[in-house]
Amino acid sequence: MTSSDTAAPADESAAPAQTTFADLGLSDAVLKAVRDVGYETPSAIQEATIPTLLEGRDVVGLAQTGTGKTAAFALPILSRLDKTQKAPQALVLSPTRELALQVCESFEQYAAHLTGVHVLPVYGGQAYGVQLSALRRGVHVVVGTPGRIMDHIAKGTLDLSELKYLVLDEADEMLKMGFAEDVETILAETPDEKQVALFSATMPAQIRRISKQYLRDAEEITVKSKTTTSANTTQRYLLVSYPQKVDALTRILEVENFDGMIVFVRTKNETETLAEKLRARGYSAAAISGDVAQAQRERTVGQLKSGKLDILVATDVAARGLDVDRISHVVNFDIPIDTESYVHRIGRTGRAGRSGSAISFVTPRERRLLGAIEKATRQPLEQMQLPSVDEVNVTRLARFDDAITEALNQVKRIDAFRDIIGHYVSHHDVPEADVAAALAVVAQGETPLLLSPEDEVKLARDDRNTKQRNADGAERRKRSSKPMAPYRIEVGRRQHAGPRQIVGALANEGGLGRDDFGAIDIRLDFSVVELPADLPKDFFTKVANTRVSGVPIDIKPDKFGGRKRDGARGGKRGSYDRDGKRDGGWKDDDRPTRKPRKPRH
Ligand code: AMP
Repeated sequence: MTSSDTAAPADESAAPAQTTFADLGLSDAVLKAVRDVGYETPSAIQEATIPTLLEGRDVVGLAQTGTGKTAAFALPILSRLDKTQKAPQALVLSPTRELALQVCESFEQYAAHLTGVHVLPVYGGQAYGVQLSALRRGVHVVVGTPGRIMDHIAKGTLDLSELKYLVLDEADEMLKMGFAEDVETILAETPDEKQVALFSATMPAQIRRISKQYLRDAEEITVKSKTTTSANTTQRYLLVSYPQKVDALTRILEVENFDGMIVFVRTKNETETLAEKLRARGYSAAAISGDVAQAQRERTVGQLKSGKLDILVATDVAARGLDVDRISHVVNFDIPIDTESYVHRIGRTGRAGRSGSAISFVTPRERRLLGAIEKATRQPLEQMQLPSVDEVNVTRLARFDDAITEALNQVKRIDAFRDIIGHYVSHHDVPEADVAAALAVVAQGETPLLLSPEDEVKLARDDRNTKQRNADGAERRKRSSKPMAPYRIEVGRRQHAGPRQIVGALANEGGLGRDDFGAIDIRLDFSVVELPADLPKDFFTKVANTRVSGVPIDIKPDKFGGRKRDGARGGKRGSYDRDGKRDGGWKDDDRPTRKPRKPRH
């Protein structure tokens, strides 16, 4: 804690004494991995869930993606893993293969100091061979989609007789995708003694019933969030891709009229990296995190107060309770994963009756977190645009003028140089304005004073590249030369089949990609889906047992051959074009790559 914490008046937005990961009862090896990853404190869902799971109780957690729920279940499982057991002891069910792979990656990261732990992703579309040989060798954790897990159970290739932990991740999504029956079968067919953790963003009646029926004395965990943000703080957000963040921040620093600023990042490791990048760009920035010694933190905060330092790059913990009046801006370089952290961060500005400004960077994948924040604070955030080259240049010129005016006020120093310049002018026959310009060149060094139009193009191109890629994808799909053919499946509106369920089932189990889906025409008791005419032979075997809402889909080429059927084929009612499948459980693959952009200077 910083000295300013003690000096701070009762701060209604300061978080209560913070629980650390070490308080939660995790194993040493897991704690070490968490430290390596750079998480500083548990998120709300982690703080509430981890001790309960470690106690052995079942849990129903109401949590969205992006709140840290993967670690909430992975850390307690890894802390109690028995490496000597050959049959799988933990099974995580995920709605999509993308999520299954992400969860596997997280498990591997958190198991970095547990040698010999094997985690296996199991999903439709992947060759059985790879999965079978891994299962034969022995795996500790299996993460898979329900359909493929059911296949393995049916084939007798996945031994769940010694299963200790079962996680249902994004349970509501799994039900929406038609996996309800598979999930229930798996719940019923695994040993009674297992521990179950169910995570879901919503709690429809069906999930409530499942948790009542299959979970034992489950603790229901809902994370409540503080919801008050200061009225004198304006809140904006900027949509950026991960690699653009540093450039975006630099532009904001150039055009925003800020006094003191806190830039929040998610992990301790990132604080120093970002502070270093800002210093390289000429800003007075320092990093504070829970790792920085108390005395050093107090010194840094003191410098921020006195104006020696303008920018503090901090984690939530390090900035807790920080009370510095001159903080005019808070930038969420990484949007916080808890709404409570958001409220707390924003509370660092707009203090002592001053007005404050909060800007949150949001990557496309994080839009849902933005929605959660808006909902919790009951305040919409205003979208802002990246400052343009012109805006940046206007402020650079204004600052250049100010610097001249300020120097002219230093009368004594000006006098000392006046004679030297006069001497130069009289001996070189050069206009005084040229001499002044030459001195500006000396003062400016190699760095150009103004941004060039190419700088606009550079950032804009990144945007356009993304847009272009999306457009190209849509265009490619539209123009796909793949001959398509209609296939009939025996589920329709009556069975609650939507495009999302149909695409989810066929893609996961049949190994199809985004581009393989054409129009989907949903009728009362059946649907017609356009798929490639030359589907691989094993496709039909793969999807033979696929169900939507528990009903076998029984897919066959449609004998109507796509011709009009009772006058409504392809009509508006129940018909979806290819874009309909964007609702179909596909996750945009816009996860930011963690490669930092090369600094410009
Ligand atoms: P999840 O909800 O599991 O998808 O996690 C969302 C993001 O938050 C991931 O990028 C995690 O690496 C990150 N994360 C999870 N727990 C923490 C934590 N305690 N502190 C900071 N970041 C975290």
